[in-house]
Amino acid sequence: MAGGPLLEVRDLAAGFDSRHGLVKALNGVSFVLEPGERLGIVGESGSGKSVTAHAITGLLPSNARVTGEARLDGVDLLQMSKRKMRHVRGERIGMVFQNPLHCLNPSMKIGAQIEEVILAHTDADKREASRRSLELLDQVGIPSPDRSAQEYPHLFSGGMRQRVMIAIALACKPQIVIADEPTTALDVTIQAQIIDLLAETCKAYGAAVILITHDLGILAGFADRIVVMYAGRVVEQGDVDSIYYRPAHPYTLGLLRSVTRIDEARRDRLVPITGNPPSPVLLPSGCAFHPRCPYTQPVCSERVPPLELKGGIDHPAACHFAEEVATHRAGDAVQ
Ligand code: SF4
Repeated sequence: MAGGPLLEVRDLAAGFDSRHGLVKALNGVSFVLEPGERLGIVGESGSGKSVTAHAITGLLPSNARVTGEARLDGVDLLQMSKRKMRHVRGERIGMVFQNPLHCLNPSMKIGAQIEEVILAHTDADKREASRRSLELLDQVGIPSPDRSAQEYPHLFSGGMRQRVMIAIALACKPQIVIADEPTTALDVTIQAQIIDLLAETCKAYGAAVILITHDLGILAGFADRIVVMYAGRVVEQGDVDSIYYRPAHPYTLGLLRSVTRIDEARRDRLVPITGNPPSPVLLPSGCAFHPRCPYTQPVCSERVPPLELKGGIDHPAACHFAEEVATHRAGDAVQ
């Protein structure tokens, strides 16, 4: 689509058939991704961020029911056959998951796994695929690519395996890389290295990135824009400075106050959000965040707040009291 966004997700909804009936996991999720942009999707476990990525890429299980649109260059991915989607995933959208051990074949050498992706999705012959795989291993910082290509995944550390996954994701020069909690299983120093590598390599390849995480701190030096999700909905979205410095939703405030920062010497200031995310089987009425929200008022349990732009706020938030929250955010209302 000439001049339009690279990816446009509109009114995406997803549910799963279960013995409780249809359990809704996503409700009216909309956002856009521009070419080369770095978008962060943040929320606690169960917020719907991974379901969003899986719905867009056709990776939900067969009991899922998905509606809405996810247009890549104007073509709706949700209407594509499984076969076409497999090609889109290899060629145009690269994926990096939380646990590389689940994705890498334990009985296949690292180099051969990268070559396999190149051979399946491009016109390259075996010799060219081999050359490309060594080049990719070098680009993602794997030492001695010639030797490393001949090794099996279990000989690599967690961080090195995730570097290999980034190499595989970039193997066909995709337009988008979706990284779903890529650093959750890694220690903090390695996390920062992997996020930096993701940013550098995707920039070099001109790929846009969707980075999914539960930790807003990870997105600080990475994302151009941030989408905040709670209970299957987008509750706030804006550019990175708006979200960090001018949050207008109490949930975002809570996430910011529970952020772990590598450069933060005083850990005693971390304030976790009280309570737990709701089960999708038993969502609270009105605003799903109301049982945990320090700003809640009677109207909050009665009406779902729409995601909208209100006066005095430079980005949309789904809160009946977004203006007040934005104004009083410097206070200590969030416990
Ligand atoms: Fe809190 Fe009410 Fe805003 Fe929901 S709508 S986030 S409960 S103040």
